[in-house]
Amino acid sequence: MWKILKRIAKTGIATETPPDLQKVGAGETAATQRIHDEILQILGRALTIREVDAGSCNGCELELNALNNVYYNLEGLGIKFVASPRHADLLLVTGPVSRNMALALQRTYDAIPEPKLVVAVGDCAINGGIFGESYATLGGVAKMLPVDHVIPGCPPEPIAILQGILTAVRYRLGTRAAADSAGHA
Ligand code: SF4
Repeated sequence: MWKILKRIAKTGIATETPPDLQKVGAGETAATQRIHDEILQILGRALTIREVDAGSCNGCELELNALNNVYYNLEGLGIKFVASPRHADLLLVTGPVSRNMALALQRTYDAIPEPKLVVAVGDCAINGGIFGESYATLGGVAKMLPVDHVIPGCPPEPIAILQGILTAVRYRLGTRAAADSAGHA
C-alpha cells in the first residue's frame, strides 16, 4: 500500500493539461450551430447513414461515437445511423480496406439503394494511411468504390465529420461547386 502511494506521489499527474473549456466550447458551439442550421436548411428530411469499419484501428469509430452524443445532436438534425444498408442513403467507411472486409464492404455498397453517397472518413480510408497497402489491406476505399467525399484526419474530429456530412449532402443536392470548394474528392 505505502509503496503504491509513494509511486503515485512520485509520478504526479501524467495527463495533459485540459483545454480551456471557456474558449474551446464557445468556438466549437458556434461552429456546430452553424453546421446544424445549414444541414437542416439543405436536408429538409432525414439522412440515414450506414457505417462500415473496413479495418480501422477504432480511432475513427471513437470520433463517430462522439458525434452521436447529445452535444452534436445528430438525431435532432434527422441524421441517423442505421443497421441495414437497405435503409441507408450514405455509406461512411473508416479504415483501410482490409482484404477480409472487401467483400462485406462491396455487398453493403451494393445493398444501398440509388442515389447513394460514399464518404471516406480518416486518412486510412482515403489512402491506406499508416497501414498503406499490403498483403492484408487494399489501401483506400477508392480502390474499390466510387468515393464522393473524403474527410481527412487521423482521426478527424467530430466537427470535421459533421462538416464532411454537410458537404456530401450539398453534393447530393447538386450544389457541386460548393462541395468542391470544401474538399470534395
Ligand atoms: S485514420 Fe487514424 S484513427 Fe482512423 S483508422 Fe486510420 S490510424 Fe486509426
